[in-house]
Amino acid sequence: MFTQELESPPGQQCQQAGTKHSTLAIILSLIFILFASLTPGGIPTRTSWKAHGSQGRSPATPWVTPSPPPGFTPSPTPKPFPTTLQEQIAYLQAQDHFLSQGNPHLPEIALTFDDGPNPFYTPQILAILEHYKIKATFFCVGWQVENYPDLVRQEQKAGHVVGNHTWSHPYLSRLSGPEIVSELTRTSDAIQRASGVRPTFFRPPFGDFSSAALTRVYHLGLITVLWNDSPADWLRQGVDVILNRTLSRAGDGAIILLHDGGGDRSQTVAALPFIIEGLHQRGFQLVTLQQLITDIHGKHPLPRHRQLTV
Ligand code: ZN
Repeated sequence: MFTQELESPPGQQCQQAGTKHSTLAIILSLIFILFASLTPGGIPTRTSWKAHGSQGRSPATPWVTPSPPPGFTPSPTPKPFPTTLQEQIAYLQAQDHFLSQGNPHLPEIALTFDDGPNPFYTPQILAILEHYKIKATFFCVGWQVENYPDLVRQEQKAGHVVGNHTWSHPYLSRLSGPEIVSELTRTSDAIQRASGVRPTFFRPPFGDFSSAALTRVYHLGLITVLWNDSPADWLRQGVDVILNRTLSRAGDGAIILLHDGGGDRSQTVAALPFIIEGLHQRGFQLVTLQQLITDIHGKHPLPRHRQLTV
């Protein structure tokens, strides 16, 4: 054993002779190392380190930082966010972060409700959606969220998606950068406090935005969602008008804009069951925005069973 060898010294003379030999060997070694270090090429190089490594022996500390292996290419620097509005929209569309419709080849439609939560109309709409087992998306106004957090919690709990519709419903193009950030973050904070989930989707009030607004929305990580099917229910031109406009504009991947707040929405509530039944009869499946975007590049269209007689 190692311990026993140390504790069994050889004879005294041998020990003295061994000590002298060891001292001499150490001195010679130090001279050799000093000489080698002063000689060109005497200091170990990366090549010699690699050679050692190939033999299974590597030094404790490499002297030279290894360079990248052949064929290595560094990851490209992220492309900066564009400065012009047109380029920004194209940039965001390429990432599915700016859209007004889903997959144009899938019979899926997203119902969206803006300007709530409203203590009178939102519960009625939630009851209708529950009756038809439909999941929808609510773009909520921040100050309303703060007043009626239970309704937002109810939307979330029922499986609907809750989106950000700013704090005070302004025209974003008229606001400064800090004001835009405040409108967005206050609302996201309020929705998160109410529902436990921070919103992913954002809809600009009146569909109004600017380059400054898109820049802030982008840096806050929100997805901007517009629409391509609006019956202008806020004009209150009658249940039949709301119904017929909605159905006549409905198509694969449509995003329908309705309102559950911001005024008298009794006509919207009355039209909603007919809208849902009409879309079902035409073979559309009603989904959340999250589902619509998940399927936006789907390559296998869903089976279609339309009844075009209605
Ligand atoms: Zn609105």
